[in-house]
Amino acid sequence: MRVLKYPHPMLEYQSKPLLKIDQKVRDIVAEMFDLMYESEGVGLAANQVNLPYQLIVLNPTGDPEQKDQEYVLINPTILKLKGKNVDGEEGCLSFPGLRLIVPRAAEVKFQAINLKGQPQTYIWKDFMARIVQHETDHLFGSCFYQRAVESITPNYELFLERLKEKFQEDVKKGLEPKQEEFLENVAKWESERC
Ligand SMILES: [Zn+2]
Repeated sequence: MRVLKYPHPMLEYQSKPLLKIDQKVRDIVAEMFDLMYESEGVGLAANQVNLPYQLIVLNPTGDPEQKDQEYVLINPTILKLKGKNVDGEEGCLSFPGLRLIVPRAAEVKFQAINLKGQPQTYIWKDFMARIVQHETDHLFGSCFYQRAVESITPNYELFLERLKEKFQEDVKKGLEPKQEEFLENVAKWESERC
């Protein structure tokens, strides 16, 4: 498992609901947490690791010792965004080094299924609200730069261009899939869903 980098087409994928929670899903979740901590992130969406499910892991402390702060959100639905949008700084593991100012609702009410299969309703504020909005965007194929109002990183457009060039080089080297291979893989996943 690895974190896909912009502009990998999986980052634009409309993730599909997870239909059952079994040992395979629990193993994926454990691996996603390991990768998130290793990458010094606070949240990770499944399509960032090349998986087509509506699945998010997060821990606002980013500290692997603080297990009580870990959340697994399966098939999340945002029910309500509340309060004025607040500008705040964000980074993203799929855009290493890029820091942007993104407006997000100060409070979010949402539903998700936890790893035990129980539907839960959450009301989160501030940083937690920011994380869940950022990660939910990922699941529906959008990334933070699409909502950003300002960049902390200088020459932000150039930064994205460099990432695109790097990705194209990796496609040429066969390290990343060509668009048509990617679409074939997606069609295969979707046909195998039970
Ligand atoms: Zn992100």
